[in-house]
Amino acid sequence: MLLGFTTKLKLNNQQCTAMAQHAGYRRWLWNRALLWWSTAYKEGLKPTANKLKKFYTNHVKPRYPWQSQLSSRVYQYCFQDLDNAFKKFFNGGGYPRFKKRGVDDSFTIDNGGKSISLKGVRTKLPFIGWVSTYEPLPECQVKKVIISYRAGDWYLGFAYEQERTVPQKKQDIVGIDLGVKSLATLSNGEVFVNLHPYRLTERKLKRLQRSLRRKKKGSANCLKARCKVAKAHRRVADIRKDYLHKLTSYLAKNFKTVVIEDLNISGMMANHKLAKATADLGMHEFRRQLDYKCQLYGTKFVVADRWFPSSKMCSHCGYIKDSLLLEERVYKCEDCGCSIDRDLNAARNLSNWGRLALRKSTEG
Ligand SMILES: [Zn+2]
Repeated sequence: MLLGFTTKLKLNNQQCTAMAQHAGYRRWLWNRALLWWSTAYKEGLKPTANKLKKFYTNHVKPRYPWQSQLSSRVYQYCFQDLDNAFKKFFNGGGYPRFKKRGVDDSFTIDNGGKSISLKGVRTKLPFIGWVSTYEPLPECQVKKVIISYRAGDWYLGFAYEQERTVPQKKQDIVGIDLGVKSLATLSNGEVFVNLHPYRLTERKLKRLQRSLRRKKKGSANCLKARCKVAKAHRRVADIRKDYLHKLTSYLAKNFKTVVIEDLNISGMMANHKLAKATADLGMHEFRRQLDYKCQLYGTKFVVADRWFPSSKMCSHCGYIKDSLLLEERVYKCEDCGCSIDRDLNAARNLSNWGRLALRKSTEG
């Protein structure tokens, strides 16, 4: 299956300049080509990306000799992207937009028909040359790479083919309760604590935002301060994502079946305080990662019915409480008298539900 990979580049000043020049070239050309398209259309002509590319190559490009210093792949892909953008538009999508500096800075390059070999932390990119990454790349061959800019750093992105591998699974089925106190509680008793990356950096973020407010709008210092704020936000997102990747990989690799509850049921979003906490957890990101990793590692992915009362039910005897307050951290059953951690109880209910659902699906 095809997997996407994006990672931060470690660049020297010269390379940063080269990236910015290419991205600037891409933006400059895209905005011009889009304008030509709109103008030609208004004049009753039928523009296509190919016609515009021919016009550009023969009449415009020769007037800008600086372009020969940059990779010609940038402009090949620019017109290809324009073609795709209008195809999307004709199929009911939005009209292609002009690109803004610092927001839509990216470009695509390839090796002119040959593939690009990726492996480890050093990579030779066509035209750009050797670049480093902070994390090792998966060993693979790709047709093209996308270089993009985000909050002061350049990123390398590509899609690569990965074979499905089914590792030896140690355990059969696991129910996962996503919570606020701990990120995830598994039905086998394992607990993944919550990192709260937002809270960790909240003070720092507040300080940076204060400093940004004091800067004169539009000044160089204001730009610098804004970049720092964006970086702090990105760091929060990166910590969260990284931690979620560890959790979802562990689940998909070690269990034959994973059961989670439908995200909508929790009713958590109704509670304001909880809403912030759940947003902090990135539950949608969790589900997205778990879904594709289960496909990758041959794991069954089961989502419990949205009305299933995973918290109110006793996982031991099946008794269902009328209500359960949020602050009740221990589930005490009024019927069989057992008492069990609230999150563990919910996780066990989910695993029981999954086991039953699987049995039903094999029977009929
Ligand atoms: Zn009970």
